[in-house]
Amino acid sequence: MTSVDGMEVLQSEDAGRLGRGKRVELSNFSKLELAVKIAGKVTTEDLPRMCPLLSRETNPRYGSDHRRVVEIGGARFGTGLPVVIAGPCAVESWEQTLELARVVKASGAGMLRGGAFKPRTSPHDFQGLGLEGLKILRAAGDETGLPVVTEVIDVRLVETVAQYADMLQIGSRSMQNYPLLVEVGHVGKPVLLKRGMAASLCEWLGAAEYIAKEGNLEIVLCERGIKTFSSGEYSRFSLDLNVIPAVRAQTFLPVIVDPSHATGVASMVELASRGAIEFGCDGLIIEIGSGRNDAPRPKCDADQAIDPPTLCQIIRFINSRQGPVEGKVSVLGWVR
Ligand code: PEP
Ligand code: MN
Repeated sequence: MTSVDGMEVLQSEDAGRLGRGKRVELSNFSKLELAVKIAGKVTTEDLPRMCPLLSRETNPRYGSDHRRVVEIGGARFGTGLPVVIAGPCAVESWEQTLELARVVKASGAGMLRGGAFKPRTSPHDFQGLGLEGLKILRAAGDETGLPVVTEVIDVRLVETVAQYADMLQIGSRSMQNYPLLVEVGHVGKPVLLKRGMAASLCEWLGAAEYIAKEGNLEIVLCERGIKTFSSGEYSRFSLDLNVIPAVRAQTFLPVIVDPSHATGVASMVELASRGAIEFGCDGLIIEIGSGRNDAPRPKCDADQAIDPPTLCQIIRFINSRQGPVEGKVSVLGWVR
């Protein structure tokens, strides 16, 4: 052991005594650095090397606060004006989807969501309507004039989903499915990349870089809550709002928030949405239900579905936060 600039460092003799059978030249590392290097831990300092296509540092033309604008059929993410995506967790029927698409349109939201292929924890639970669900979602989007986003969970389905959707969603459970990321990078549609529920910022941006490396920079990031010691105790996941400014500091990609999966509780969705807007997100993706007592209970994530008035309330909050908007772009990202 010796001391460099007041810090104790291991010498190569010490390394030999560590018993790894291989002598390592350690004199350049402090003990702390050594621990980090050995663990293979990635920090945000590694991002310019890991993510040269998406890091602000390696793309100085994007400056320190510029966002890349990602446009999906008129909905524009990254203008500084939040865009709201809303719709059912899962497409369940033509009637349900069209009813909710009309609610979304009337609320002033900019895009329609709805899952056709659902990644469920139990294989015995409703898995989505599949191709039929894609057709219904597309028709509801066409009927209301809303662009649609839906999840793709399987590399073999990317082309099919891309035929029906305006934007492809990579879900939390698939964020590190690298072959799937490569495939959606090829297919020429914008991608909504949800954060893995246990993914660090670096892992999340590394996943986005896979898509970018295939030539697709039309990526919107989505924070959707992470697993912590309190997940499941009073909310489904823990909404990590701190990550919004952190994403902003590292990359020019827009970032939105999913208050529905993050909380899992309908009564928390409006508060979480307000918080996310205050943290400067580029939009929200929200699950809704009809709110009618005579409607069938949603087969998927019923407890987090907000009713139409609550969606309108959230949009009114966004409008009130934005103030009067000059120019061609409305508060919801629509070009008038
Ligand atoms: C969804 O948005 O339908 C979904 C399954 O979300 P997540 O991947 O964030 O769980
Ligand atoms: Mn859901």
